[in-house]
Amino acid sequence: MTFDFSHKRALVTGAASGIGAAVATALAQAGAAHLVLVDSDEDRLSALSLPCETTLHCGDVADEELWTAIEGEGAPLDVAFLNAGIAGTAAPLAKLSLTDWRKVMSVNLDGLFLSLRAAIRLARDDAAIAITASSAGVKAEPGTGPYGASKAGAIQLAKIAAKEGAPRRIRVNAIAPGGVDTAIWDDLPFFEKLKAKHQGDRQGALLEMARGMTPMGRFETAEEIAMQVLFLLSSASGTITGTTLVSDGGYSL
Ligand code: NAD
Repeated sequence: MTFDFSHKRALVTGAASGIGAAVATALAQAGAAHLVLVDSDEDRLSALSLPCETTLHCGDVADEELWTAIEGEGAPLDVAFLNAGIAGTAAPLAKLSLTDWRKVMSVNLDGLFLSLRAAIRLARDDAAIAITASSAGVKAEPGTGPYGASKAGAIQLAKIAAKEGAPRRIRVNAIAPGGVDTAIWDDLPFFEKLKAKHQGDRQGALLEMARGMTPMGRFETAEEIAMQVLFLLSSASGTITGTTLVSDGGYSL
């Protein structure tokens, strides 16, 4: 699948790793002229090497000053991929603290609100925005309270922003992956246990999870998700707005 983002200026959050890095790379390979990349991991962000102009902003997406600085640069955006997120603590609601809850909400909803507000303020007419939700925001699963609620919130924010942006033909959609092999799993103790069961074999652990969870018996790759995001950001999806593209091998069915 090929897309043409020539002359486009794009914003990507959570750009240093996983899905965000795959989308930043795909946008650059599709001819984007300038990428504004945001991530809290300075080392990984500055290690990215992309074949286009980049402006790097290292910081927390939930920090309003970061967005004041980005908005202050004032350059209009053609596309934005709002993707920074964390998994947080995976535990039943009865075992969660308010701190566990707020940690996830801070990144996944405060950070999303601030980045979406900035993207809308900087957007040209006809711009396209994509938000990373999750199938955890579609399907109720025990132990995913803060994460699932934050991702359901992301889906609703995409719909509201789509309606607000429609008069200027600004489109806003969400993508909901099910399972992608990225660093996000490494924060989850149950994944560490599963890896230990597979003698440290990460792929073996992921495959066991995928076979148990998804009708298709497989997870998605970051590169597959990136192509689907480029579709949502491209003119090929020109009449699609306010939708959630669920890409999870059937997990949430
Ligand atoms: P990842 O950990 O590889 O990437 C997340 C990136 O976001 C990292 O570079 C991290 O430094 C950055 N980040 C985290 N908190 C931040 C903050 N406060 N401010 C700025 N940057 C911050 O994981 P990923 O899987 O690529 O995650 C990307 C998005 O995909 C997340 O929103 C996640 O919830 C979502 N998602 C992932 C999966 C999966 O299975 N990997 C499934 C569904 C949804």
